[in-house]
Amino acid sequence: AEYLQPGVIRKLDEVVVNRIAAGEIIQRPANALKELLENSLDAQSTHIQVQVKAGGLKLLQIQDNGTGIRREDLAIVCERFTTSKLTRFEDLSQIATFGFRGEALASISHVAHLSIQTKTAKEKCGYKATYADGKLQGQPKPCAGNQGTIICIEDLFYNMPQRRQALRSPAEEFQRLSEVLARYAVHNPRVGFTLRKQGDAQPALRTPVASSRSENIRIIYGAAISKELLEFSHRDEVYKFEAECLITQVNYSAKKCQMLLFINQRLVESTGLTSVDSIYATYLPRGHHPFVYMSLTLPPQNLDVNVHPTKHEVHFLYQEEIVDSIKQQVEARLLGSNATRTFYKQL
Ligand code: ADP
Ligand code: MG
Repeated sequence: AEYLQPGVIRKLDEVVVNRIAAGEIIQRPANALKELLENSLDAQSTHIQVQVKAGGLKLLQIQDNGTGIRREDLAIVCERFTTSKLTRFEDLSQIATFGFRGEALASISHVAHLSIQTKTAKEKCGYKATYADGKLQGQPKPCAGNQGTIICIEDLFYNMPQRRQALRSPAEEFQRLSEVLARYAVHNPRVGFTLRKQGDAQPALRTPVASSRSENIRIIYGAAISKELLEFSHRDEVYKFEAECLITQVNYSAKKCQMLLFINQRLVESTGLTSVDSIYATYLPRGHHPFVYMSLTLPPQNLDVNVHPTKHEVHFLYQEEIVDSIKQQVEARLLGSNATRTFYKQL
């Protein structure tokens, strides 16, 4: 008789493992940008400049004026699981930085050509280093430069042809890059952000240093939105959260729903909070939506930030109750502003 033969199990080559893992974390240029922005913010930068070519597929470069990276750390900074931010697993519940896994730079170096130019306050000159597959190539070279870091990523997914093929439209990737940058700019008004297509005289997006959230919303999303904004904050003693919101009143509506959601300073997606949109359904014409900026602060121990490779999703305790409470607040404020409007109209 003929036997069915089992497959032979072998350990995957390390480079293959790392590239597969990297592809999960860095799915497109916008994921890389998010990681890089968070690194620059973690490094206490006040000025962050991004330059791109072909929607970040040819070039994605980010320059900041933060702490810089110590020369002696340049050898391992792009290895997987090297970080200056976390040491013990227990600290994850109190983490105040965006990063903690030490995976972003490593991942990028496995799917793109990566170089780092950096200078700390202590060092007399800067250093430039290039990386491939997590490893430093040669020695860091001394160079001139201001304090801070320039991370340069070229030819993203050069070694993942299917991925490269799937991301055919540089225009769409650029749109996603600018959406990520816009969101961080609104949330971090003290920091000045610039986004520029290489070769363009004018930046595609620019916010000043020491701005405000509503001012940045005006600069980026336009006056039609910013003049209809309702700003409020709400503290809940039961579930111990705080919400800061900038939402449009019912006078404003658009075909596209703009939702900027942050939980403990992290840009997030796919939480129950998106259902805030449904409250507007009563007030807005069918198929129309509000602009919503919402920043939620929870006790860090109630939040699990480590549930998704891209960190886009987070889980938190009492999600349903918290979302309900916020929706009630939104409803009340909208009714308040709506009442005023009708009242004025009747006069
Ligand atoms: P993580 O942010 O999770 O620590 P990363 O791979 O994103 O992992 O970065 C690794 C380390 O490199 C960081 O912990 C930090 O020390 C350093 N680093 C990365 N980007 C910057 C930057 N722009 N400025 C200063 N240090 C940086
Ligand atoms: Mg990071």
